Amino acid sequence: MPPSGGPPPLRRLVIPGLFVAGLFAVYFFRQGPPTAVCSELAISGPTMGTTFNVKVVTDDLTEANRERLTSLVREALDGVDEHMSTYRSESEIERFNRGDTEPFSASRDLLEVVAEAQRVARLTGGAFDITVGPLVDIWGFGPPGATEAPDEETLKELVAVTGFEQLEVDVEGGTLRKARADCRIDLSAIAKGFGADRVSEGLARQGLPHHMVEVGGEVRARGLNGSEQVWRIGIERPTSAGWSVQFVVPLADLSLATSGDYRNFVERDGVRISHTIDPRTGWPISHNLASVSVIHASCMTADGMATALSVLGPDEGFDFAEQQGIPAYFLVRVAENVFEERQTSSWARLIENSTGVDSVDEVR
Ligand code: FAD
Repeated sequence: MPPSGGPPPLRRLVIPGLFVAGLFAVYFFRQGPPTAVCSELAISGPTMGTTFNVKVVTDDLTEANRERLTSLVREALDGVDEHMSTYRSESEIERFNRGDTEPFSASRDLLEVVAEAQRVARLTGGAFDITVGPLVDIWGFGPPGATEAPDEETLKELVAVTGFEQLEVDVEGGTLRKARADCRIDLSAIAKGFGADRVSEGLARQGLPHHMVEVGGEVRARGLNGSEQVWRIGIERPTSAGWSVQFVVPLADLSLATSGDYRNFVERDGVRISHTIDPRTGWPISHNLASVSVIHASCMTADGMATALSVLGPDEGFDFAEQQGIPAYFLVRVAENVFEERQTSSWARLIENSTGVDSVDEVR
């Protein structure tokens, strides 16, 4: 329920057919006539089984500068991939997954992401849970690829061996430890956001405070765009007719992450099976939430929280986000190509103030 005294959540039906079709999870455009004093240098490419898009505001559009910034971005993203990919047998996370129950000496980056994942897991009562790896694999969404649907017995056994409580993070001591040797972690729902944070921090350190970084649909924006306007990011409306923009979010020194059921799924006997798993039951989520978007200062946190709210669903997730003051936007599928929008009060407040928030601390 909304906190007493706060504005009521907004709910409205969205009728399809208002936007032009396209193909990407997010897109970016300017508000008002361009008043550019600087140009944007665009860098993009593949990473982590998906893509990245970066725009940097700079007056140095030389090829040498592009190459320098491309290396900087690649280095940051490759670092995340090397540490946190379950798709690379020699990554740090896979060495931990294969290991025993002895303390595992981990890198600072891995510890930071796992510690935040554990915080989100505790906060959401285990709706977010990075030990979900074996369940993700058995449903055919992990590195092994497509599989037969698991039976109830197998699911029960896997639910019994998973659980975020089995994982201990000792940030000061620099170690990770698992209670069972067969506990496997999967950072797919949080590490892309961390990658966007790392790229943004790297650009800021180079004296480039105006940029937008998108990794697999998770976005971190800093400063202003090349037209000296707040960056504006589109949230997708997932109709069967194709792609369109549902909502445009002004993003000032903030991050936006979206979790949805419409892009990554398999179909079995005509039934759509989501890649987001409810760790408490072992089953893929099956409610009518098409997507949920979260705004936070940290893209890593926005990324993890969007998946957590996706697991909790349109009602429990919405109430939870309201109680916690999380700026979140839910798109609930009420019929084929018809959606109901639900904005938490803090989301509505952020959007109303179209320049974003005065201080990043407001949403920490
Ligand atoms: P999100 O909602 O952000 O995350 C969903 C994913 O999180 C699921 O696919 C599952 O893995 C996991 N998950 C499901 N339920 C839960 C839960 N309750 N709690 C926590 N986590 C859950 N894919 C490839 O095909 N090839 C690659 O080489 C590859 N490399 C990668 C390297 C890295 C470092 C990372 C982070 C991911 C990589 N991926 C790769 C995965 C690919 O990018 C995923 O499809 C993507 O991360 C899922 O993100 P999403 O935004 O679609 O969904």
